[in-house]
Amino acid sequence: MKVFNVLHRKKEEFETLEPGVIKMYVCGMTVNGEAHLGHARQAITFDVIVNYFRFKGYKVEYASNYTDIDDRIINQSKELGISPLELAEQRVQSINKTWEALGVSEPTYRPRVTKCIPEIIEFVSDLIDKGYAYATPVGDVYFCVKKYHGYGTLSNRKIDELINSVRIESAESKEDALDFALWKAVGQGEFGWDSPWGKGRPGWHIECSTMIKKFLGKQIDIHGGGKDLVFPHHENEIAQSKCENDCDLANYWIHNGLITVDGQKMSKSLGNFMLVNDLLKVYDKEVIRYAILVNHYTSTLDLGENALKQAEKSLYYFYNVINNVENALKNSQQEITPNADILNQFIECMDDDFNTAKFIADMFTICSKFGKYNDFKLLSSFSYAIQKIKDIFGLFTHSPSEFIKNIKFKYLNALNVTEQYIEDKIALRADFKANKDYAKADEIRNELDSKGIMLKDSSNGTTWDIKQLY
Ligand SMILES: [Zn+2]
Repeated sequence: MKVFNVLHRKKEEFETLEPGVIKMYVCGMTVNGEAHLGHARQAITFDVIVNYFRFKGYKVEYASNYTDIDDRIINQSKELGISPLELAEQRVQSINKTWEALGVSEPTYRPRVTKCIPEIIEFVSDLIDKGYAYATPVGDVYFCVKKYHGYGTLSNRKIDELINSVRIESAESKEDALDFALWKAVGQGEFGWDSPWGKGRPGWHIECSTMIKKFLGKQIDIHGGGKDLVFPHHENEIAQSKCENDCDLANYWIHNGLITVDGQKMSKSLGNFMLVNDLLKVYDKEVIRYAILVNHYTSTLDLGENALKQAEKSLYYFYNVINNVENALKNSQQEITPNADILNQFIECMDDDFNTAKFIADMFTICSKFGKYNDFKLLSSFSYAIQKIKDIFGLFTHSPSEFIKNIKFKYLNALNVTEQYIEDKIALRADFKANKDYAKADEIRNELDSKGIMLKDSSNGTTWDIKQLY
């Protein structure tokens, strides 16, 4: 299979360090707020990637951290009158619940910075001993970027260019503008940990290098995260780990694209943050997963209300198709050996850099060929594929009839129409038709249509559906 490796800026054949085993690390959330859609995209992207690897038979060791201490957590905890650790714990519990509600599986390891402080101090001490880092008189420790010659490889930047782009902070006691903090001194009375350099807190980048080493080892197969982390965060992780461990940190770097809301960057100041917990009050978890997976993971994804409504509509369509397929197969009473044609089509897409978008587009084409639902070979191939895909995508996991019913009633509520009202109208219309009063029957159809309800006549009678969902 092929994976787009950001390190070499091209798709490459995927090979593991150890046969059959994948070690993967993804930079997780800083818990200074609840999870928003950007976090959800990352969590779902790597959830699906892990699920797919496991489906392919790999043993996956997947670590994704929580950064559970930073300035904002400390300031928020002061306002609440609780300790930062207590606030972080509450947030971690709450965010874990969000992932569960979104159908995101727990990683193998969920390291937290505040639980790795001794290892971080040891890592920083090592870098000082090896000459790659230095402590300042005030008790900060910096990584000396110029000592590491590979700096800039991941983000494709040259050191000289970086020097021009870095804001020179004259107040700082670091030796070079490019140097970054491994340890930051804090004042007396501030929250921090004792260290050989005085009381302080770890820098952000050193956390990940340390947690990777502690939980997965010196070298891993895949390092992931959002595109916004390539520089400087991932560049700095590489520098620290390479100097500490004398080997490459990760063979493949995978970055998911970012999210815009109705064309604008998601930001606190614009007030367009979409919190996952708020969305889950309105949409099924699968709607959110679908809205993300219908795009390739590297794309910038515009995800406003319209995209979510469209995702809901598409899922409604697929659930109806799945329901029809299941019923057709049940009623066919034919013994059909399922073939793996459609599943193979899925594997082909996923083997090409996890192209979930391509496969979902293919599904529309496949479903358009079902016609009268009497090609049982094709239907059984589809049904067989869905059984495997549902656990990888975390889609189509509901009972189709239940899902269809729930969506219909959600829309009925919004339209302010009851099912009883529709059923009464359908019965009345049937009477008119029986009496050949077609004008009156059409009046009823038009009346329902104006309320957003459409009628479908078949030999089995009349059924209704929601116009907006088509
Ligand atoms: Zn990281």
